Amino acid sequence: MDKLVYFFGEGKADGNTRMKDLLGGKGANLAEMTNLGIPVPAGFTISTRACNRYFELGHRMPPKLDGQVERSVKRLEKIRGKRFGDLRDPLLLSVRSGAKFSMPGMMDTILNLGLNDRSVEGLAKSSGDRRFAFDSYRRFIQMYADVVLGVKKHEFEALLSVAKQRRKVEQDTELSAEDLEQLVVRFKDKVRRATGRAFPQDPRAQLWGAVGAVFESWDNPRARLYRRQYGIADNLGTAVNVQCMVFGNLGEDCATGVAFTRNPATGEDLFYGEYLANAQGEDVVAGIRTPRPISRAQADGDGDSLEELMPESYRQLMKIRNRLESHYRDMQDIEFTIERGALYMLQTRTGKRTGLAALRIAFDLHRKKLIDRKAVVQRVEPDMLTHLLAPVFDPTEIERARRGGRLMARGLPAGPGAASGVIATTAQDAVRMARSGKRVILVRTETSPEDLAGMVAAAGVVTSRGGMTSHAAVVARGMGKPCVVGAEALRVDEAGRQVRAGGRNLGPEDWVSLDGTTGEVFSGEMDPHPSEIQRVLVDRTLKPERSPLFKQYSTLMQWADRLRRLKVRTNADTPRDAAVARAFGAEGIGLCRTEHMFFAEERIAAVRHLILADEPKQRRAALAKLLPMQRKDFVGIFKAMEGLPVTIRLLDPPLHEFLPTTPAQFKKVAKEMGVAVKELEEKAAQLHEANPMLGHRGCRLGITFPEIYDMQVRAILEAAIACRKKKIRVHPEIMIPLVGTVREIRDLAARVREVARDVEKRAKASLKYHVGTMMEIPRACLIAGAIASEAEFFSFGTNDLTQMTYGFSRDDIGKFLPAYLEERILPADPFQTVDQEGVGRLVELAVKEGRKAREGLKIGICGEHGGDPQSVGFFHRSGLDYVSCSPYRVPVARLAAAHARLAEEGGAGSGTA
Ligand code: PEP
Ligand code: MG
Repeated sequence: MDKLVYFFGEGKADGNTRMKDLLGGKGANLAEMTNLGIPVPAGFTISTRACNRYFELGHRMPPKLDGQVERSVKRLEKIRGKRFGDLRDPLLLSVRSGAKFSMPGMMDTILNLGLNDRSVEGLAKSSGDRRFAFDSYRRFIQMYADVVLGVKKHEFEALLSVAKQRRKVEQDTELSAEDLEQLVVRFKDKVRRATGRAFPQDPRAQLWGAVGAVFESWDNPRARLYRRQYGIADNLGTAVNVQCMVFGNLGEDCATGVAFTRNPATGEDLFYGEYLANAQGEDVVAGIRTPRPISRAQADGDGDSLEELMPESYRQLMKIRNRLESHYRDMQDIEFTIERGALYMLQTRTGKRTGLAALRIAFDLHRKKLIDRKAVVQRVEPDMLTHLLAPVFDPTEIERARRGGRLMARGLPAGPGAASGVIATTAQDAVRMARSGKRVILVRTETSPEDLAGMVAAAGVVTSRGGMTSHAAVVARGMGKPCVVGAEALRVDEAGRQVRAGGRNLGPEDWVSLDGTTGEVFSGEMDPHPSEIQRVLVDRTLKPERSPLFKQYSTLMQWADRLRRLKVRTNADTPRDAAVARAFGAEGIGLCRTEHMFFAEERIAAVRHLILADEPKQRRAALAKLLPMQRKDFVGIFKAMEGLPVTIRLLDPPLHEFLPTTPAQFKKVAKEMGVAVKELEEKAAQLHEANPMLGHRGCRLGITFPEIYDMQVRAILEAAIACRKKKIRVHPEIMIPLVGTVREIRDLAARVREVARDVEKRAKASLKYHVGTMMEIPRACLIAGAIASEAEFFSFGTNDLTQMTYGFSRDDIGKFLPAYLEERILPADPFQTVDQEGVGRLVELAVKEGRKAREGLKIGICGEHGGDPQSVGFFHRSGLDYVSCSPYRVPVARLAAAHARLAEEGGAGSGTA
């Protein structure tokens, strides 16, 4: 049978948690909870297959779906003893989307479906609560109109505000049944005027309208943006969950809430969430009324926690919480409703968390023997480590700001890390200001999916409303952005671009600083400082034994290191960067870009003399000045990387990058060189190139100005000998950039060896070193076998390799990349995540041919992709020996390499102890 609908109810379900592809995350877990005997309102899931079929059929419902849905509705009617569409006591349904991966706020929910002008009267009678019936109806009209009919939510909210003003009340709950009845009339009127049609009265038409809208919402621009942000495929489709309604708004013995089984910001083993009495689900996340805490421990003694006000429901909920955690062996993010004292679970899923929480929770579950070491390693996403390394404010600066009256508000610590920037009150402003080079903090009353681009652009996010589960909190946490929500002392005037707090008015040029770990928001600028891990490892201002966080971090990294096969090196050009990277676990230098050393104040003059020299004599004089400086640099780097391999690349960029740019600089250089300014300017003009990235650079410089490479090789090897004399173990690897032909590498490698022989002879010492090449021109990959017979190692320069494989200028891609991503012409920025299909194929070919020509050829990658977890996975599978990335990405790459190994073993998620 072509099964498109999966039923769950009365303790039995057609599906289970492993069926996320088909049922979506929500549907699969509703089925699982039902099978576990946890109270879940009965319902059915329309599968993702049905959604995909809908798109294949040109936005039409698959033919078999109708009958299967109809049969399922009949089963629900039997279970609840009510009929869908009944006028006296109607069965009401909720319709919610649920894709395989949770996409907060992206898809839509409709509650109370099945109500119409006549059955609302029936509901009023059967529930004995007229106010409740009309409240449910007006909510339904609003949600349905918004999601299905395209009448915007705020149009209804405006009408609601008018009604409240007229009654001089603050809360929706203070409106009477008559008020709500009138509101229903106005809402329907609004729909008629906006759509030219009456609000649909036939419950079955309502149901199909809702199902179609959920399908369609899979393809809305916000959903696409979210998927792009998180690398989720476009062809998965969404499931639709249809369930019997349960009501949290039937009176004061009713409630609805959302919770994490632990604190998602810190990982503390504390039931952590929010609820509202007498409310429906969306009230909690929408931030209209401020929700109250679930547990007493979380409540600051206000006495209004669920634990204190509804102790029996709390006890039941706690039991379910424990059951779910031990069943799923992970922290869960749950939704529940209490209807007249009866508790129902509406959702459970793995909770999003900060890096800090991920680490703590994983170790906690390991201690309880719920997960094994491999699972601990798997539970921390590589990118999450950046949260742990995220900067914080200096405590004394915070204290000073507090005393100086700069504390504007205290909210909830939704995303750790410290950030400072100028205020933007809309997403558009945030994007625009960030583009103009400003550091921006997005400050809003609350955020919605429309704000995503602004959140991406901002350094941090603050909202005046909402809880730990609000849109802002969930999304910012996922992005690793510092975030404070529910900073209620702030009044944000979005349109007026103003933020008011305690009599102060701040505008778009004003700075604010937020601490997402404590929840504080300050006026003015503050300097973010290094994190605890950084202080232990790099600054050494904190002793490791005084940091429990560091202990967990280092254990995790040890376990990861034992698992991984891929080595991790770093790209570093200074002894300081090399030392930082080593503290983060780098196992050598994969790329030292020597040109960065040329830019230092005292060197650039000599470099300019070198470039602008006409006579070999002048050139030799300039090189003689540079030689001791470079030698000193290399000694410093070798020392920092003692005992580990150090790959040094000979000069690579086009020479014009070093030229004077301002008239004053030209004058200065001309004077130093004793030539006329005009002469110098002419010389500079000669160096101009139409396509410098494809021009006179890389090994082409080595061929045309051999003295430059000679000097660099001499500096490297003399430094190595000097170190050896001091008993410092060195492993220099000399790397020739931008090779595309065999002769280039053959000739240049021969010249390196010639210089080396001379250095050895003069020093009366012999030295072990290797000469290899960067693989960054497609041609080099295509003839990798021949190249390998001359080169002792390969290092893929995936930046240039991507540039030249696609023919995309890496410096100009910003002009068309957004359109390419929007149109899905590219799945991701190929300069961030390696293009496995094209560039990756060249990599695989070169690995294969290279190793065939030279057994055991050492191969690494040193482009930016070396620190990207997804790319690291690919390089692992391609059989590389190491990846090399910037110092702060080294821990990320180590963990990603362990994940790659685990993925290979097929070890999914929740290994047991
Ligand atoms: C590369 O091209 O990938 C590389 C590492 O070199 P650069 O970025 O310096 O061109
Ligand atoms: Mg390059």
